[in-house]
Amino acid sequence: MKHKIQQHDKIQLIPKKADELGIGGESITVEMWQAIVQNDSSYDDKFYYGVKTTRIFCRPSCKSRPPKIENIRIFQNVQQALSENFRPCKRCKPTGQRLQIIDD
Ligand SMILES: [Zn+2]
Repeated sequence: MKHKIQQHDKIQLIPKKADELGIGGESITVEMWQAIVQNDSSYDDKFYYGVKTTRIFCRPSCKSRPPKIENIRIFQNVQQALSENFRPCKRCKPTGQRLQIIDD
C-alpha cells in the first residue's frame, strides 16, 4: 500500500495484536481498521465490516462513525454478511452498485 497514513489519534487505540482478539471468523487487521476509520473507498469491495451490536454491515468507506473495534465483524463479501443475518447499511448501501457520489 502506498497510502499515506495520517496520524489520527484513534490509530493509537489499535491493539497491536488485533488478530488475537478473536473477532468472528475473520480477523480485522490494522490495515482494515485504518480503512474503516479513514473511510477509504479504495477498500470497497475488498471487504465489508459488520457491527455485531447493531447487526448492520457497511463498506469501508461508509461515513458512519466507526464502531468499537471489538464489535467489528469482517466479511469478504455481501453474501457472507447477509447469510449471517446482518443488514446492509442504509447510508453506504453495500448491496447496491453505487454507494455515493464518486465523480463530482
Ligand atoms: Zn454504512
